[in-house]
Amino acid sequence: METWEGPIDTGDVPEDGSFFDVIVVGGGPSGSAAASYNALNGCKVLLIEKEMWPRDKICGDAVGGKSLAHVKELGVKEMIEATPHFMVDSIVFGSANGSTVKVMLPQDEFEKKMAGYSLPRMQFDYMMFKRATEIVTNAGGSVIQGFNVKGVLEEGGQITGISGSFGGRSAKNPTLSFSAALTIGAGGYRCPVATKLVEGIHGEPMRDDDHYCGGYREYWEGVSGFDGSHGPIEIHFIEGVIPGYFWLFPVREGVVNVGIGMVISEQRKQTGASKSLKKMQRWVIEEHPVFKERFKDAKIVQGSQKGWQLPFGSPRKNPPSYQPRRTAGAGVMCVGDAASLVDPFSGEGIGNGLVSAKMTSKYFDKDSHASGFPEEQAIEYMNDLWGTLGKELTNSHRLQKVVKWKRLMNWFVGKSSRKKEMGDMLTGMIANKEAQKALWSPWFLFKTILLP
Ligand SMILES: Cc1cc2nc3c(=O)[nH]c(=O)nc-3n(C[C@H](O)[C@H](O)[C@H](O)COP(=O)(O)OP(=O)(O)OC[C@H]3O[C@@H](n4cnc5c(N)ncnc54)[C@H](O)[C@@H]3O)c2cc1C
Repeated sequence: METWEGPIDTGDVPEDGSFFDVIVVGGGPSGSAAASYNALNGCKVLLIEKEMWPRDKICGDAVGGKSLAHVKELGVKEMIEATPHFMVDSIVFGSANGSTVKVMLPQDEFEKKMAGYSLPRMQFDYMMFKRATEIVTNAGGSVIQGFNVKGVLEEGGQITGISGSFGGRSAKNPTLSFSAALTIGAGGYRCPVATKLVEGIHGEPMRDDDHYCGGYREYWEGVSGFDGSHGPIEIHFIEGVIPGYFWLFPVREGVVNVGIGMVISEQRKQTGASKSLKKMQRWVIEEHPVFKERFKDAKIVQGSQKGWQLPFGSPRKNPPSYQPRRTAGAGVMCVGDAASLVDPFSGEGIGNGLVSAKMTSKYFDKDSHASGFPEEQAIEYMNDLWGTLGKELTNSHRLQKVVKWKRLMNWFVGKSSRKKEMGDMLTGMIANKEAQKALWSPWFLFKTILLP
C-alpha cells in the first residue's frame, strides 16, 4: 500500500548559482504538475517547496473530475487509489429553509472512477509531489524542500530566477540563488513570484477583497448521514451562514472535512460572532436544528482547526490588464492560486491549477526560449488561460451571487428536488460547466421554472 506519512527523499541540493530551463516555486498540486509537465517535455526543472513533506494544506479536500484527468495522465491516480479515500457520486445542495436537492454526478464518469474523489490534502499533495520528484529527477532536474523563496530576480522587467534559504536568514543558512529561462509562480495566494510580477513589475493590485474568500476547516469523526466509502458531498447555504456556505465533505470512512467559506468583503460586513468563520461554524454544529443532531455523537480531530484564503477567478470589474489578473510576463508564468483561478461558486481550485500547469508546458520551449521566456508568449498564455476558463469562471461568479438570495434559493432547491428536469440540468452543469449557460437562457427558465 502507498504511504504518505514518511519523508520524501529529494536528493542533493544543486550548487548555488545553477541554471535551469524552468524553476517552479511551490510544490502544491499546481507546482508539482507544472514541474512534471515541463520535465516530461524534456526540460531541466528545479522544483522548490518551502515546507517539508508530509505537509497539511487547508482545503475542502474534494478532487473533481477535471483534476482527475491530469492526475491520471501524471500517473498519480493509481497511487491515490491505493490509499484510503472517498469516492464522490453526488452533491447535496441545501438551502436556507432546510430543503435539499441531491445532484447525481454522471453515472458513466463514476463507473470509470473519474467523477471525483475526496481525500486529505496531506495525502493528495504528498503523492503529487512524490511523483513530480520522480519525473523531475529522471529528466535531470532537482527538487528542494524546506527552502523558502524570498527574492525574485529581475533584469530589465524580465524575471530571471529566485533566491532564498533553508530556515531563517543566518550564517548557517546562507542565501542561495538559482536562475532559469522560465520561472513558474506556484506558491499559492501569497506567491512571491506572482507578487513580484503583478505588484512589483506592473504596479497592479494583487488582491481584491470582492474576489478573495476566507475558508475555515476542521476534521470530524462520527458525523451522521455518511456511510461507507462512497456517496455525496454536501454544500449548504443556510441561515446564519449566507452569504457564505457550509460544507461537509467525507474524506474516508468515518472522517468528514467540515468547513465554511465566505467572500472577504462580505465577511467584513458581518457583525458580532458572524465575523469569525470559526465561531460561525461552532454555532452551526452546536445550535443549528439539523446539524446539531448530525453532530451530536461526533468528535473533532484536534489540531485540524485552521483557516486559509481562496483567490477566486471571477472576472474583475475594471481589470488593469488581463482577467482575472495578470498571470505572466517576460521570464514568468503563474499557475493555480498564484494566478487567482479558484472557481467562485464551488471553491474548487485544484482543477484549474492543473489546467494552468499543463498550459505552461505548451507555451515554453527550452530551445527557442533559452535566453528567456518572451513577453509575446506570456501574452498568449494569458489569453489562452482566460479563453479556456473565462466562461465557466464568469458563470460560477453569477451563481455565487444568486445563492445569496435566500428566497430564490429555497424555491429553486425545493423545485429541483421535485422536478427531474431541473435535477438533470444541475447534473449536466456539474459535468460540464459550459452547460451553466443554460441557466441564463430564457427558454430554459420558461420551460423548467415557470411551467409546472
Ligand atoms: C478552506 C478551503 C477549502 C477549499 N476546498 C477546495 C476543494 O474542496 N477542492 C478544490 O479543488 N479546491 C479547494 N480549495 C482551493 C485549493 O485549496 C487551492 O486552489 C489549491 O490548493 C491550489 O493549489 P496550488 O498548488 O496552486 O497552491 P497551494 O496548494 O497553496 O500550494 C502552494 C505551495 O507553495 C508553497 N510555497 C508558498 N510560498 C513559498 C515560498 N516562498 N517558497 C517556496 N514554496 C512556497 C506552499 O508551501 C505550498 O506548498 C480550497 C481552499 C481553501 C482555503
